[in-house]
Amino acid sequence: MTEENAPSITKWVFATSNPHKAREAAQILEPLGIELLSLDRFEQSTEEPVEDGLTFEDNARIKARSYAAQLGLRCLAEDSGLEVDALGGRPGVHSARYAGLDGSRAERDQANNDKLLADLANVPQDRRSARFVCAVCVAEPSGEVVAEARGTYEGQVAFAPRGDGGFGYDPLLLLPDLGVTSAELNPDEKNRRSHRGKALRLLVRALT
Ligand code: IMP
Repeated sequence: MTEENAPSITKWVFATSNPHKAREAAQILEPLGIELLSLDRFEQSTEEPVEDGLTFEDNARIKARSYAAQLGLRCLAEDSGLEVDALGGRPGVHSARYAGLDGSRAERDQANNDKLLADLANVPQDRRSARFVCAVCVAEPSGEVVAEARGTYEGQVAFAPRGDGGFGYDPLLLLPDLGVTSAELNPDEKNRRSHRGKALRLLVRALT
């Protein structure tokens, strides 16, 4: 391949402290010619903003604007979580801290999954509908929002965790058409169907 016909690579700063999200987003965007730069690529230290928005969109905007202003660079951020219909949409924007803030990321994920199963203990399968939601936002250091998108990933909450792929609530999101949980899909299969894959592909379409 000569330099002239080599695909051009666009670099985006992705402001997240969640390594699972960073890995998935990189896998989703790499085939579209976008390379993600994570916060640890910058010498400048940054502070996590308080995510006190009422919606996924609010929190994605808070993060994109805050990190763009801190770094002086256009930034991509995302906010995501699980909405369970039988719980009136909870845990929603509180998904990461549903069972509290103690412990490592893996311990918090385990506690969140245990709490979700306990909260739904008496709910039959046909009333366990749920979806992952992902809102993505690109903002400038000035605070201007350049583009936004949302993706959803529908399923049902299983009665027990299954699979060791993915992260967070993936072992509990049952995909009724496939008969497996999201954690039983390989990364490409998850990214094709997932809230994050859909939101990021829409965002790329809006920006190119
Ligand atoms: P955030 O980092 O504040 O946006 O928290 C999102 C939380 O939602 C994570 O801690 C996960 O528990 C959950 N979540 C978001 N996306 C996924 C996913 O793709 N699979 C499983 N859990 C997810």
